[in-house]
Amino acid sequence: MSDALKHEILVVDDDPAIRDSLSLVLQSGGYDITTAINGFDALLQLKRRLPAIVLSDLNMPQMSGFEFLSVVRRRFPQISAIAMSGAYDSGEAVPGGVIADAFYAKGHSDPEMLLRIVDGLIRTSAAHAVDHERQSAPVWIPRNGKDSHGIPYIVVTCTDCMRSFPLSVITEDLQKIQETPCLFCPNTVRYIIDFSLAIASPRPEVKAAEIVHGARHAAAKS
Ligand SMILES: [Zn+2]
Repeated sequence: MSDALKHEILVVDDDPAIRDSLSLVLQSGGYDITTAINGFDALLQLKRRLPAIVLSDLNMPQMSGFEFLSVVRRRFPQISAIAMSGAYDSGEAVPGGVIADAFYAKGHSDPEMLLRIVDGLIRTSAAHAVDHERQSAPVWIPRNGKDSHGIPYIVVTCTDCMRSFPLSVITEDLQKIQETPCLFCPNTVRYIIDFSLAIASPRPEVKAAEIVHGARHAAAKS
């Protein structure tokens, strides 16, 4: 790989040891690396600059990789995405419900394979970007939990302004595309609640309470 054209990769994982080891592997392959500690952090960084590739863990607190990668695909269709997880062993196939171009099984810890996947995506990125533009996949939202009144809720991230807000789940309409107006901007968010995901974000209770409170506050003001 020529140094004149260093491609940037954003590594998203809540585990600092994994961020470090993946960064080392990818730097050894000649790539520039930035890191994010979760989906929200990654979206903030994407607002500032766009990498060629995001490499995201699927099982993260606060915003799962499923949701993060859905938002990336909708908002930044030019970015190629690699999902990674230690919880799946699907070889190189992307697990169902994950919106990504490739999959890396963390458990195998096979740096050569990771570099091969990245290199392949970089070489075909123009073709991927065209595919992505044509996709109008809704955002996949994992089930989140129950609010203080025992009502199930989800947290939706707007694909346009990228702010997040909670929604109460009235009916458990399985895997049907639903729409909701964004609380913060004129965008309408299309989403699917994926009740089948066993790997939903382990959202810390205190964080969920803060998010719900923050959004109610914002909604009350508008
Ligand atoms: Zn919005």
